[in-house]
Amino acid sequence: MGSPFWWGETAGELHVAFTSAAAGNLGSHVGSDAEENRLRLQKQMGIAPGSLRFLNQVHSADVVDAEVPGVPTGDAWISREAHPALAVLVADCLPVLFSAVTSSGGRLTGAAHAGRPGLVAGILENTLEALRREGAEQLTAWIGPGACGSCYEVPAEMHRELTADRPALSSQTSWGTPALNLRAEAVRVLNAAGAEVVDVAGCTIEDPQLFSHRRSQRTGEPAGRIAGVIWS
Ligand SMILES: [Zn+2]
Repeated sequence: MGSPFWWGETAGELHVAFTSAAAGNLGSHVGSDAEENRLRLQKQMGIAPGSLRFLNQVHSADVVDAEVPGVPTGDAWISREAHPALAVLVADCLPVLFSAVTSSGGRLTGAAHAGRPGLVAGILENTLEALRREGAEQLTAWIGPGACGSCYEVPAEMHRELTADRPALSSQTSWGTPALNLRAEAVRVLNAAGAEVVDVAGCTIEDPQLFSHRRSQRTGEPAGRIAGVIWS
């Protein structure tokens, strides 16, 4: 059983990681193998089956409290729990994981799914705001793999519209057409909020070790979902 992770880091009790295609598809909306793959992943993470939480992601800017039971609808969540196990699913969108300490010595964690619609609608600003409301002080954000600025082609009109308000999004594909750089904009938003940013990088479209919605449309291979996971 090889490692299910593309990248991972442990700080004290806290683990942050991004899965690779080796973990299999983890999106229950895109394949019937997700439940089996999620169970195997939790075993490899060393946590109880069913303890890793997933969101019903809808490309919104809505942040939910992990105290809400079940599978809440939203695109980011934050937790005050001592032993959180939060996931977000992506395949070209950016997974962003958060950890912070509070003035009273507590720990906060969070995870966000920041694709084009969510990023533009303010999912990262909203997650940062939710963490700050809970007293977050020293904040670290890990940005995992997603479609890079040299691959993420968009129509010229969309490029014009979105980059007017968020110029850091502006990019060009390696073949010279309008593109978006979600990562550059995410780094800008997180830095502006005073977060320490760990840019894990990686391009889902270029790296066959990752799942990519766009690449799968081109090649016809199955479009799985990788996950950003934070747990202790
Ligand atoms: Zn790329």
